[in-house]
Amino acid sequence: MIPYGRQQIDEEDIEAVNKILRSDWLTTGPEVQAFENAVAEYSGAKNAIAVSNGTAALHCAMYAAGIGPEDEVIVPAITFVATSNSVIYQGGTPIFADVVPKNLLIDPSSVEERLSLRTKAIACVDYAGHPCDYDELRRITDDNELILIADSCHSLGATYKERKVGCLADMTVLSFHPVKHITTGEGGMVLTDSDELAEKMRRFRNHGIDKDAQSRNRNQTWYYEVVELGYNYRLTDIQCALGRSQIKKLPKWLSRRRSIAKEYDTAFKDVQGIDPLLADDNVRHAYHLYVARITGQNRNRDEIFIRLRQKGLGVNVHYIPVHLHPYYRNRYGTEPGLCPVAEQAFEHIISLPIYGSMEDENVSRVISNVKSVL
Ligand SMILES: *Cc1c(COP(=O)(O)O)cnc(C)c1O
Repeated sequence: MIPYGRQQIDEEDIEAVNKILRSDWLTTGPEVQAFENAVAEYSGAKNAIAVSNGTAALHCAMYAAGIGPEDEVIVPAITFVATSNSVIYQGGTPIFADVVPKNLLIDPSSVEERLSLRTKAIACVDYAGHPCDYDELRRITDDNELILIADSCHSLGATYKERKVGCLADMTVLSFHPVKHITTGEGGMVLTDSDELAEKMRRFRNHGIDKDAQSRNRNQTWYYEVVELGYNYRLTDIQCALGRSQIKKLPKWLSRRRSIAKEYDTAFKDVQGIDPLLADDNVRHAYHLYVARITGQNRNRDEIFIRLRQKGLGVNVHYIPVHLHPYYRNRYGTEPGLCPVAEQAFEHIISLPIYGSMEDENVSRVISNVKSVL
């Protein structure tokens, strides 16, 4: 089975992890900051806060944004559930905006329709690796004094109008799950230019304690204070060593993802029944996912899905619109019809295999099998 995504680990990665296993610090050590610095430098953000996974990173961002029981956060209907779950962790209410048909990114006009006096933030998602319409989103957040959180778990390495992911929102969230661009096993990060937000998130990931282990060590003191309620969302030095070794290979893997996407685009151009999502000219897509619509009267996505799986292609569907999940329907009464574009698109979309280490032979196998099944 060719998976829809997977990690690549080489001897250099294993050596980097080995080195930490033999060192004094397995967690809260110097490798954490070294990895944070590497990602901050790569993406041009001033501060980076490493945490235990992407969902924890979203929770940190919601906390730092000050989301509480009175607040609403606007999220897109098409995303992984963690985006909206993290609003609820803080007691806030997620409000679902519809998406744009051509790329399934949050639709700024739908965001404007969903604004209320309780709206505090917008959490947009760079779905599949295509950056959102940040100029429009920024205009809305500026006009209404809202915080912009980018769930960029799909888009590390992408650019929007020559500006890098990491500098496009007040806070940018990354995941290092094995299917994402680089991995630490489990892992996540928040990027921000604000020192104030960064400090809040550093405390939040460490029980709400005002000093971390490194600074206590430096200052020869045992004293610390808990100044607010936090969690243990730390990422280990073992994982950070893997991440720091992985990010060196990110440019190579990104260009591989882009060239696979280009091959698919070309191959399916004149094929009836498959309609890949389009990339705008002003972005450099990061292609976490390669998503296409299955179209045409006699073609049913679920049937095509089963046939492709039978041929050994690990195709997938990203995502069931979040507001249609039973938890959301039962708790918030979000019924079908709330986000018609997302609901319609969901019936047709399929994700084809794409990852940095994907071999030419497997790319050809995907193309020929998709063509023959269609
Ligand atoms: C992967 C992902 C997350 C969550 O990341 P984890 O590291 O798995 O917790 C959040 N949002 C989106 C859009 C993702 O793809």
